[in-house]
Amino acid sequence: MVRAAVLPAVGAPLEVTGIELPEPGPGRVRIRLAAAGVCHSDLSLSDGTMRVPVPAVLGHEGAGTVVSVGEGVTHVAPGDGVVLNWAPSCGTCHACALGEVWLCANALNGSGDVHARRGDDGTDLHPGLNVAAFAEETVVAAPCVLPAPDGVPLADAALLGCAVLTGYGAVHHAAKVRPGETVAVFGVGGVGLAALQSARIAGAERIVAVDVSPAKEELARHAGATDFVLASGTTHREIRGLTDKQGVDVAVECVGRAATIRAAWDSTRRGGRTTVVGIGGKDQQVTFNALEIFHWGRTLSGCVYGNCDPAADLPVLAEHVRAGRLDLGALVTERIALEEIPAAFGNMLAGKGGRALVVF
Ligand SMILES: [Zn+2]
Ligand SMILES: [Zn+2]
Repeated sequence: MVRAAVLPAVGAPLEVTGIELPEPGPGRVRIRLAAAGVCHSDLSLSDGTMRVPVPAVLGHEGAGTVVSVGEGVTHVAPGDGVVLNWAPSCGTCHACALGEVWLCANALNGSGDVHARRGDDGTDLHPGLNVAAFAEETVVAAPCVLPAPDGVPLADAALLGCAVLTGYGAVHHAAKVRPGETVAVFGVGGVGLAALQSARIAGAERIVAVDVSPAKEELARHAGATDFVLASGTTHREIRGLTDKQGVDVAVECVGRAATIRAAWDSTRRGGRTTVVGIGGKDQQVTFNALEIFHWGRTLSGCVYGNCDPAADLPVLAEHVRAGRLDLGALVTERIALEEIPAAFGNMLAGKGGRALVVF
């Protein structure tokens, strides 16, 4: 029996309880978690904005040590450090064949499987976004396991699995920021902080952070922001004022709200690019008139998992960490226990902090 944070039903509070995991069967790996990040997507799953079969063990950003492996698993062995990949690609669907592995049609096929049983009443539990990282131990499919990079503390490496891949990929793969460009990042949470650091790595000249909370300014500046704008109804005008009335080349939206997406788009220059990373609900309708779409010649694009191929991007991120360009510790604003995840959700809703990291 190991302890885990279970979502009993959509809209219900998480419960920390004992769960029974099966021994890893063929092609599966058992891992003892070192740390798991609390991501906004976990909150979106718990409140029903995003849906997976429940009851489920949430948590999808984690790293740990291999305890045991099932038959046929050869890329990792007991004792190895690993980073969890919540969106394993199948390699055979249309998206995978095109090399767009982040859009794999089969990535979440495992979310309906039975992952574990509750220790108290035997209820079947599903694995949320595949990896069920809010637990002392988990059992996952081998493609969800990536060898942890050397030279990166295992607890910090957890962040690579979602926040950092997403923020880095939004800047490097989706927006393709070039040296000397100007970038605005809306929303300074875990992903926003990773996007700010990634804009700095990309050589962006001016990096504007936008958030509703003035308390985020210090975090944002440490992550590379050269300017901080407090979000308001006139955010786009302030950003244009900082950029010779032109607007930024690139806006990265990490909030997932209609007003913020619209403000991000309005903050870019003619021909600018806006990448939406935030996950919003169906009630968030963004409107544009036909003339402005023509006049501004801008691009608006979505972004899934940073449009990353985790197996290819992880070694690159690790090199940035080792060289001191990417500071994973600076993304973490609190280190917590499993029982404190609901409080971390509350902080997220209140717009406080960066990443909360559950440390086991
Ligand atoms: Zn996430
Ligand atoms: Zn696929």
